[in-house]
Amino acid sequence: MFRIKRSVYLDNNATTPVSRLVRKRIGYILKNIYGNPSALYHEGRSAAVILEESRAAVADAINASSREIFFVGSATEANNAVLKIVLSQRDSERREVIASPIEHASVMETLNHLVSQGIEVSYLPVSAEGRVDPAQLEAMISSRTTLVTVMLANNEIGTLQDLRSIVDVARAAGARVMADCVQAFGKIPLDVQALGVDYATLSAHKVHGPKGVGALYVREGSPHRPLIHGGHQESGMRAGTEGLHNIAGFAEACKAIPLLLKKAQKLAELKRFFIKKLKEIAPNAIINSTARRCLDNTISARFPGRSNAQIIAALDHYGVSVAAGSACDTTEDAPSHVLKAIGLTDQQARETIRISLSTYTKPKELSYALRVLGEYLNGKTPAINIVAASQLNQSFLLDPDLYILDVRFWYDRGLLKSLPNAHEISFFNAKKYLPQVPKDKHILVACQNGPNAPFVAYQLKALGHRRVSTIMTGVMGWRVAHPELYKRRAGEGVKRLVIS
Ligand code: PLP
Repeated sequence: MFRIKRSVYLDNNATTPVSRLVRKRIGYILKNIYGNPSALYHEGRSAAVILEESRAAVADAINASSREIFFVGSATEANNAVLKIVLSQRDSERREVIASPIEHASVMETLNHLVSQGIEVSYLPVSAEGRVDPAQLEAMISSRTTLVTVMLANNEIGTLQDLRSIVDVARAAGARVMADCVQAFGKIPLDVQALGVDYATLSAHKVHGPKGVGALYVREGSPHRPLIHGGHQESGMRAGTEGLHNIAGFAEACKAIPLLLKKAQKLAELKRFFIKKLKEIAPNAIINSTARRCLDNTISARFPGRSNAQIIAALDHYGVSVAAGSACDTTEDAPSHVLKAIGLTDQQARETIRISLSTYTKPKELSYALRVLGEYLNGKTPAINIVAASQLNQSFLLDPDLYILDVRFWYDRGLLKSLPNAHEISFFNAKKYLPQVPKDKHILVACQNGPNAPFVAYQLKALGHRRVSTIMTGVMGWRVAHPELYKRRAGEGVKRLVIS
């Protein structure tokens, strides 16, 4: 039905395509500037010059001084580094961290770690739009609070926070503020002086830079401690020889930020166009992203009664890439903590997809994505049958007409045994093995807990398989629904597929 299958990338909050100038710069550095920036001879000195020029470029992009910028391996690392400073305060009076409940996993998981180490963590309420109310912070904050952490823009729904007011409240109580600025960077003007934050974290790959490099801004005078010990690199904050090609690529991406911001108007228009057309093709769709003070590139949309895993796999089948929530959650089926914090139920969170645009996104790409989505929602593209885990009793599973394809990751197989007589293949490599799957059987594709199997099921449909099903909650759901059967038959007769 779609004669020309396009490749339309609409997951720019997960990562962005690397710009041409960044690629060129990285290539140049890899070829020509291989010296170690710590070495004193000329190759080292040339590398050190590039390192410091890059630092200045990142600093310029957020109105900081070079002395306040530390290069790190990712924003995840930067978030960890800041939050873990608090560990040295676990025996002091000031040992509470206040956080928004919609922070990225790199903050949420680190906060859980802090709690296990004796730090108190309190969560602010957020409105249905995902907004923190500074007045509520004022009511919660006390002389026990050492740090407040609130992201500037949310990665799943795009909500922007009133960070300046949050900083004012924190300052008045003598607490410091960390802002995860990863998603705001390059989408709205970012001025750390104007915001008044003590710490800000950035990631290169969200602004058309390379993966594996980020920056930590530490306002002059704010405490900081090394997360990685060893050499004296990054003023002793992060030991290890710098990945200069990545750092220079990041700097190149930062130089293009004024242009990205200029084009932001186009993003707002694209987003309005997408939402308007989406309402036409799916009148019952609900937009979770707020209309005001929200990133212009982010659309969180809910399709009542539809599973997001199925929608995402169907779109992927026609070359359109969107996400369920944050990139870190795409291999897990846990409902998004962000969507739950703004009041959605588990079920509603599982009906939600995230579409995130970039200035590279073209209107015709959005029109194509909308067409694919419309055809899927209107039942015009092949749908995959979904079986509830409770249906998988002994007679269902041992039916000779059934062929079970287990596409779980190797680490998931270590946690749970397979369905009896399953054929195990690798999820990432499945395409190569699928021609061996018999065409005359009912194929049941199994993943650990639901979201991965539909992708493989669509590949089977494309190969001409007519009867293809997936399990709603995967092997995990089966173990819960049939614990006795799991005990007796799981792992029995399992075969590993190889290419014949
Ligand atoms: N913070 C936010 C808000 C993000 O969206 C992400 C990435 O998805 C990160 C932090 C982590 O960034 P990195 O991939 O550089 O670790």
